[in-house]
This record gives sequence, structure tokens and C-alpha cells, in this order.
Amino acid sequence: TEEVEKIKPEFVRSFQFENKLMPSTWIVIRIDGCHFHRFSEVHEFEKPNDKQALNLMNSCAVAVLEEIQDIIFTYGVSDEYSFVLKKDSQFYQRRASEIVSVTVSFFSSMYVMKWKEFFPQKELKYPPSFDGRVVCYPSSKILLDYLAWRQVDCHINNQYNTCFWMLVKKKGKSKSEAQHYLKGTQAKEKNELLIKEFGIDYNELEIMFRQGSLAFWQKFCVQEDKNMTHESKGSVQNSLKKVIVEHCDIIKPNFWEAHPSILD
Ligand code: ATP
Ligand code: ATP
Ligand code: MG
Ligand code: MG
Ligand code: MG
Ligand code: MG
Repeated sequence: TEEVEKIKPEFVRSFQFENKLMPSTWIVIRIDGCHFHRFSEVHEFEKPNDKQALNLMNSCAVAVLEEIQDIIFTYGVSDEYSFVLKKDSQFYQRRASEIVSVTVSFFSSMYVMKWKEFFPQKELKYPPSFDGRVVCYPSSKILLDYLAWRQVDCHINNQYNTCFWMLVKKKGKSKSEAQHYLKGTQAKEKNELLIKEFGIDYNELEIMFRQGSLAFWQKFCVQEDKNMTHESKGSVQNSLKKVIVEHCDIIKPNFWEAHPSILD
């Protein structure tokens, strides 16, 4: 007991550090699967793109949107997902480590909980983990540049991976031969390879593979009923908000012009 009395809580606490994110900026949390190259092999994901694995990622992202109300938009590809919090969010008083850790742990738990729903025939062989990081973007322009960067990355990787796996699966090349073959090739040459050698028109491939997935809250307008009380109107409006998953171009301004309420 004498020992316990010696502990000075203020002193112990003084070692903690401030990690509040800049006010009035868009907070982006990006999570990424740890060693999913291996995870996808062990769980025999279809290459280059396992559709069910992507659907599982999307379903977890929707669950995160529903859980963390301040998230206004999310974009995902492969084993990663970016979550955008509204500019003036006070989630965890904007403390970086809490925001990242709660997002990444919720996502990971969801991934494990939903595994059977998406892979009823496959056993989950070991617990997957995700890393997470957080960055603040001070303007909507830079935020859209960030999202465009992720979508460009999706496109480049998908094009490379499609060629790579075609060479391995259809031409019997080893992985290192395929890698060597593709080294230094331009986007145009890759598209030509796909057409000439495999009869694949890149632009005809599944849109989710080429453009990734985005999810956001969609509000549905309803005809107001004169008999409704103020309270019941509120609850109807709440129930008519739904998370939508789409696959489309977010680099061109069209999507953002069609959905101005996401960023306002
Ligand atoms: P790190 O731990 O550094 O993130 P990683 O092995 O997860 O390493 P990434 O760059 O994140 O490397 O790439 C993820 C890898 O996971 C891809 O290269 C791909 O092999 C695999 N992968 C992820 N999702 C899918 C999917 N839906 N279908 C097939 N393979 C996938
Ligand atoms: P926060 O999200 O702020 O951490 P919290 O509800 O998790 O909120 P904590 O201060 O972390 O609050 O306290 C954890 C609470 O969880 C305890 O007050 C207790 O009610 C409950 N709890 C945790 N572990 C046990 C346990 N082994 N047996 C019974 N109750 C438990
Ligand atoms: Mg990583
Ligand atoms: Mg990864
Ligand atoms: Mg990744
Ligand atoms: Mg707690």
C-alpha cells in the first residue's frame, strides 16, 4: 500500500503526447491488409482478381460507414480502403491514434465475422490483420487529388496484374519470366498484348476490377405527408438514408458534380 501511494498519476500521465489532427481539414484513414500477397495465396484467391474477396472488403467498408457516422466517403481497391471523415468531425476529439486504431480494429473484426458469408466453402486459416494511417487534407481539391491517386494506382496495378496472370496462366510462363517480359512496358503496349495474345479488351473487363469501389451515404427524397408529426418525419428521413456501393470514375469531375452533397 505504501508503494501504491507513491504513484503520481499526473506525473505518469505527463508522458502522453498530444496527437490531435489539424482542425477543419478532411481526415483520411487508409487501411491496408498486412502481407495479403501471402494471405491471398494461402486462401487461394482467384488471380488477378478474386471477386468475392473484393465483395468482402466492400461489405466491411459499408459496416465501417454505418458504424462511424462522420465518414462521408470511402474508396477501396485490392486489400486497401480509404475512409474520409467530414471536415469538422469531432470523432475522438480528432485524436489520431484513437481514430486509426478504432477504424482498423473494427474493419478487421468485420472481415473475420463476414468471412463465412463470402467464402462459405473456405476455411479462414489464420487471422488477417490490417495496418492503418491517417492524413489530413486541407482542401477539397487536394482530397480529390488523393482519391484520384488511389484510383490511378488501381488502374496501373490491375493492368499489370491482368497481363502478368495471363502470361502465367495462358502462356505457361513462370512468374519471373512474366515479370521480366513486362518490365518497362507502357500502358499502351500492355493493352496491345492483352488484345493480340489473349483477345482481351481491357476496357471490357469488370468495372470493379478496373476502377475499384466507392461507398457513400445516399439520401432518398420522400413525399412529405401532411399528417406526419415532426418526430415521425425525422425518423422516416433517417430510414431513407442508405450506403451505396458504386464502381465509377472519380478522377474526372463528373461524379463529384453529380454528388455535391458528399463534400459540402
Ligand atoms: P503489405 O503488408 O506491405 O501491404 P501485401 O502483400 O499486402 O504487403 P500489397 O501491396 O498491399 O502487398 O498488395 C496486396 C496483394 O494482395 C496484391 O498484390 C494481391 O496479390 C493480393 N490481393 C489482394 N486482394 C486481392 C483480390 N481480391 N484478388 C486477388 N489477390 C488479391
Ligand atoms: P470506452 O469506449 O470509452 O473505452 P467503455 O465502455 O469500454 O468505454 P471502459 O472505461 O474502457 O469503458 O471500461 C470497460 C467496461 O467494460 C467496464 O466498465 C466494464 O463494465 C466492462 N468490462 C470489461 N471487461 C469486463 C469483464 N471482464 N467483466 C465484466 N465487465 C467488464
Ligand atoms: Mg501496407
Ligand atoms: Mg497489403
Ligand atoms: Mg495493398
Ligand atoms: Mg473501453
